[in-house]
Amino acid sequence: MKNLFSKLIIIACMVLIASGGWIAGRGLMPGAMNPFDGSKASQDVLYQMSLGPRVVGTQAHANVVKWMVAELEKAGWEVDVQDGISMGHPIQNVIARRGSGHPWIILGAHYDSRLAADQDPNPANRILPVPGANDGASGVAVLLELARVLPANLNKQVWLVFFDAEDNGDIPGWDWLLGSRFFVSQLDVKPDEAVIIDMIGDANLDIYMERNSNLTITQQIWAQAADLGYQQQFIPKFKYSMLDDHTPFLKAGIPAVDIIDFDYPYWHTTMDTADKVSAKSLKIVGDTLQSWLQQPE
Ligand SMILES: [Zn+2]
Repeated sequence: MKNLFSKLIIIACMVLIASGGWIAGRGLMPGAMNPFDGSKASQDVLYQMSLGPRVVGTQAHANVVKWMVAELEKAGWEVDVQDGISMGHPIQNVIARRGSGHPWIILGAHYDSRLAADQDPNPANRILPVPGANDGASGVAVLLELARVLPANLNKQVWLVFFDAEDNGDIPGWDWLLGSRFFVSQLDVKPDEAVIIDMIGDANLDIYMERNSNLTITQQIWAQAADLGYQQQFIPKFKYSMLDDHTPFLKAGIPAVDIIDFDYPYWHTTMDTADKVSAKSLKIVGDTLQSWLQQPE
């Protein structure tokens, strides 16, 4: 299937080049895909790392918000920053919108990084912030590259939501999921589906089905990955039950899925750095979501 798919793409490219070029061809063919660039997503991970840990209340956190808004606007999305207070902490979710009506799909990822690396094997490091290359930056990078490559005419309403303050649970004065809980509490109308990505950049990518997620959408996404030849990375078996940004959606009765590789030995340690993340893994997740979103209804 993988080889056949590649050959078809090559033939399609040749036909498009022969008929006046890729860009002209893309404009004429609403279903044609603008390829997801894994190396661009990887650069976006490096950029976030260059800001420093994106801990709530820090300058790096303010800088990443400003940068995400600018990137999304450049890609032609309508962007809002949603301000709120949760457990006394000011939070900011970044919301990029395109299209209207139904189906209405939300793709989400948290952009904050955890303020304490409490799983670090070295006790002296446990008061340091998590660098958050995989746990934070990877999901943001995939959503931003999707913002650049998704066509404007998807025949559905799509929101890309960058959640704040997901990752400070089990720390005094905090809880998990502050940003996504606030976001769901502010919804007047329910979206049809929400898909969360978290920790999806591990160079050694093993994404199992998550037990709390909506089964139908999970099966659709894993089947899409298999069609693209990614069945080694999207493993069609259940493993973990996660508390993640999909949880507030599920509690509100909104079908939601968590795409997460929880087999990551650097989770909540100071070793969650950019060398653990690969462009290939980012592309596998980006390609899968792009194809899933571009399926006709
Ligand atoms: Zn985390």
